[in-house]
Amino acid sequence: MTTYEKPIPVRDELTEGYWRAAQQGVLVIQRCQDCHFYVHYPRELCPRCLGRNLAFQPVSGRGVVYSYTVMHAALLPGFGPDVPYLCAVVELDEQRGLRMLGNILNAAPGEISIGDPVRVTFVTVAEGVVLPQFLVDGQASGA
Ligand SMILES: [Zn+2]
Repeated sequence: MTTYEKPIPVRDELTEGYWRAAQQGVLVIQRCQDCHFYVHYPRELCPRCLGRNLAFQPVSGRGVVYSYTVMHAALLPGFGPDVPYLCAVVELDEQRGLRMLGNILNAAPGEISIGDPVRVTFVTVAEGVVLPQFLVDGQASGA
């Protein structure tokens, strides 16, 4: 593996379960065990019922493009070979408003639209570091 020159996510007690699951190729999202509300990014309190009984649960990894931007500038070392690339807000199928960020790896700028279906994929970027990213799914954008 070549040297990875982009920032590495910082793992902490709150996010460790998320990163550990990604290493296994599983997308997990916190879910309140009291009111069943999915919560992302990971938090200590459920924003719906203020309960503390949150646990990571596997999700389908499927969703739609809620919004996206085209990154044209390499603002940090390591991004130069990637520009222009797509950074998307993906709304996961499990819950309206449940959104996460990721890059879309299999489409060029101009090839995706808001509402396109996507599915998660996992990219190993360094020893023990696996990032959930997204692929446009199906024929919606010719991918
Ligand atoms: Zn709750």
